[in-house]
Amino acid sequence: MPVKGLGPYDDTNIFARILRGEIPCRKVYENDHALAFHDINPQAASHILIIPKGRHISFADFSANASDAEIAGLIRAVGHIARILGFDDAGYRILANMGEHAGQEVPHFHIHLFAGHPLGPMLARSAG
Ligand code: AMP
Repeated sequence: MPVKGLGPYDDTNIFARILRGEIPCRKVYENDHALAFHDINPQAASHILIIPKGRHISFADFSANASDAEIAGLIRAVGHIARILGFDDAGYRILANMGEHAGQEVPHFHIHLFAGHPLGPMLARSAG
């Protein structure tokens, strides 16, 4: 069930539980403000999720309410991961689903990073 992109924050969501160490993840990278791990149901050869450590529901919430340090920490993490995994030359795609129309399922903001082969058209056609 897609989630609304706005509050309140649900502390039982799966990424909150990963951040608390209650369930495992395949960690790729971590800094003061961000954690990155492999998506459990990869949609590309490499599919990594980068999430803020703070309690932010969606891009709408994060962009409005996160501190400059949190925003820098998350965005720099995305670029750093792509660089250290060798994705810069061939290229990659980043994507964030925000709210119901985008089909956001986990109500903790996350950026998807896809890489490893040509990724096809930007959007799948859907019935809308
Ligand atoms: P979204 O539809 O943008 O909210 O994306 C949620 C993503 O989280 C999906 O790609 C899921 O495969 C992924 N996901 C859900 N649970 C886990 C988990 N425990 N570990 C890693 N990825 C997960």
